Amino acid sequence: MTRNTVFHRWFGWRARLAILVLAAAGPLTAFILYQIHELRQRRVDEALHRAYEYARLGSDGYEDILAEAKSLLELLARVPEVNLAAGADCNEALTAAALSRRWVSGLWVVPSNGRVACSNIADGVGMDLTQRDEYRQAIAVEHFLVSNVFVSKLRKIPTAVATLPIINAAGQRLLIAVTLDLTWFGKLSQTVSERANATVLLLDGAGEIVASASSHNDPTTSARAGALASRPSGMFEAADNLGRPTFWGVVPLAGSPLRLAVGLDQATVLAAYHRGTRQAAVLLAFTVLLTSSLIAFAGSGFFANPMRKLDRLLHLTLENMDQGIIAVDQNGRLPICNKRATQLLGLPRDFMSKGPSANEVLAYQASTGEFEALSTDVQGKLNPCLSGGIATSYERTRPDGTVLEIRTVPIPEGGWVRTYSDVTARSRAATELLRLATHDGLTGLCNRRHFDASLQIEVARSCRSGPPLSLLMIDVDHFKQYNDRYGHVAGDACLRRIAQLLHDACRRPSDLVARYGGEEFAVLLPETPLAAALQLAENVRRLLDAAALPHAGGQHGVVTVSIGAATLGDFATASAETFVAAADACLYAAKSAGRNQVHPVPCAEPLPLAS
Ligand code: GH3
Ligand code: MG
Ligand code: MG
Repeated sequence: MTRNTVFHRWFGWRARLAILVLAAAGPLTAFILYQIHELRQRRVDEALHRAYEYARLGSDGYEDILAEAKSLLELLARVPEVNLAAGADCNEALTAAALSRRWVSGLWVVPSNGRVACSNIADGVGMDLTQRDEYRQAIAVEHFLVSNVFVSKLRKIPTAVATLPIINAAGQRLLIAVTLDLTWFGKLSQTVSERANATVLLLDGAGEIVASASSHNDPTTSARAGALASRPSGMFEAADNLGRPTFWGVVPLAGSPLRLAVGLDQATVLAAYHRGTRQAAVLLAFTVLLTSSLIAFAGSGFFANPMRKLDRLLHLTLENMDQGIIAVDQNGRLPICNKRATQLLGLPRDFMSKGPSANEVLAYQASTGEFEALSTDVQGKLNPCLSGGIATSYERTRPDGTVLEIRTVPIPEGGWVRTYSDVTARSRAATELLRLATHDGLTGLCNRRHFDASLQIEVARSCRSGPPLSLLMIDVDHFKQYNDRYGHVAGDACLRRIAQLLHDACRRPSDLVARYGGEEFAVLLPETPLAAALQLAENVRRLLDAAALPHAGGQHGVVTVSIGAATLGDFATASAETFVAAADACLYAAKSAGRNQVHPVPCAEPLPLAS
């Protein structure tokens, strides 16, 4: 049997199962990837909002201080000692004012000459401020002003100067200033950076970093804020001044060109996310690996072994069945062709080992002369493709005499299954049965039943279409005496001899020689006119005479026969019975006339009409 059945393509099964698993894993993977993407988006949004919120809190604190600074300066402007810049009294008043306010690092009263007139810081009195930017900016305007933030040289803390120009009670122009202690910025930075691994930057209008705090580096070493400098306020993703991806919240500080930026390190923010992603990837890979391993190893137990068992069973069944079987798929290939089929069809092993197609098998059979002796009817059934997709069944005899019963069933998807059974014995038995039913056991001639049936057919045909039909009735003369003298065994042998002689004398295939009964024979001669029938009858009689079978009790010392002959012709209408009766009458006429002779019914003499 060819071994390319589907069950043998085990690797194909494995591959198909693997594809199924991947197909199932695909949507799961897509879902997980989507979830991971969503999670990242959420983390990023949270981080941006958190950074912005920290920056906003800082900005709010700064605004509060500025408002307080303005109130303080306006209050001090109304204090007489301060208003008049009255030396030690003024210093005391300023010291008292600074004491209760921790955000005040210094209070100054500066007249129009630019030298500090009084201050809470003793060392500061008399200091010349004319070269300081803050001073120059302050005297240039007529209102409350806040300077840029800078790092105080004295205290090393972020500082800004708020100034209020006034005309005092003496009509002098004075500048009252407060140096703001922006340690709040440091505190905010510390808190934020500790809690969120953050960078806090204070940027001036030019994008310069004026103050900073970071949990993981010291960005003040880099004077500029890099990509951040050019970005507006709000929340966004950008590299920090060291090039690390960072989530920024940037808020402007009201009343100043300053901006407060809080940056959360992307790697820290997304650490949990990255951990989760790695875990999901590992889990997915593990699942796919596990399933693949199951298919590869346990799969043979789950899938392949039952398949193999089924395959072995199928193989065993196909190889041991008495029928040949061939299955042809829709492409004309032979997935199944068992050993019995190759035996019954005489297909050589080396030819089949090439895996021929159904058409190639048919061509090979034709080339060996397999189909030459077949009738056109059977030839038309050889190729199932020509049977119009319906089940067929037929018998054909192979050149070696084997009779095959061939049944074909179409496969709905295309192709067909054909079985071959050796029915030689059955066919021979049927033939023998038919022969027994239609032939006489003693002489081998047709029996009475067969004769009667043929007679009916031939009489009907003759009456219908007109060709002459002749009938000879032959009776052995004095055969009783023959038996009496020579015994029944010899009598039987004699009958067989006469039967042989009759059989040899009637040479046309359509002639039918039958044993009518006992020692009587009948010869049916289709399409034979009376003259020819009489000639044949006379020939028979003479041949028997010439055979000279001894019959001591007979008239002539040899076995003889008397023959009556009748003919139907020219559309004469008669029944089989009247036809036989006519021939019989002639036979008895021959007997009466002395036996060993032929007696005809003349053609001119019409037969009695059928009743
Ligand atoms: P006739 O010339 O008038 O025909 O005389 P006959 O003796 O032949 O005719 P009859 O009808 O009296 O006898 C026929 C005989 O044929 C009787 C029978 O014993 C014999 N017979 C019939 N069938 C067989 C047979 O099968 N075998 C043998 N041995 N004899 C048979
Ligand atoms: Mg008789
Ligand atoms: Mg007789």
